[in-house]
Amino acid sequence: MGDKKAAGFGRSDFHYDEQTDCYTCPGGKQLLRSRRNYSKPRKGIPKDGFIRYRAALHDCSACSLKAQCCPNTKVRKILRSQHENVRDVARAVSKTTAYQQTRKERKKVEMLFAHMKRILKMDRLRLRGLSGARDEFLLTATAQNLRRMAKCLGTGPPKIPETVPI
Ligand code: SF4
Repeated sequence: MGDKKAAGFGRSDFHYDEQTDCYTCPGGKQLLRSRRNYSKPRKGIPKDGFIRYRAALHDCSACSLKAQCCPNTKVRKILRSQHENVRDVARAVSKTTAYQQTRKERKKVEMLFAHMKRILKMDRLRLRGLSGARDEFLLTATAQNLRRMAKCLGTGPPKIPETVPI
């Protein structure tokens, strides 16, 4: 939210500094939560959970990058979710090789569930109750394992000859 990728610069082009709680734009200017000098800095979160950071009008109006940054507004604004720190951690984790590996492993399991649902028609259960669901899943998993076993062994179902000799 608040990402104006279509305008040229997206939020990822702005650098957030946790110490000073402000963004630095590609033009090297600061986007602040507030430009007023309160005796007590205001750290409240708006009701929608997004904190607004704004560039100064005199910075943007004199900036050569304005056409790429905020062609339709006087100043550039960035919205930052109150949960952005957590999102940053998740983004950093998603770039690690360990995560890439777990994603590959997870895909193997999820593909089996997708296969169960779409090919083996497990999108709804026929039997009722927990024991019914368990039995149905066990049967489907068995069928799935038999298929995989036949594939691994290189043996498919027996071939039926096209013309039956009389
Ligand atoms: S238009 Fe404003 S926010 Fe955008 S790069 Fe220039 S000074 Fe920074």
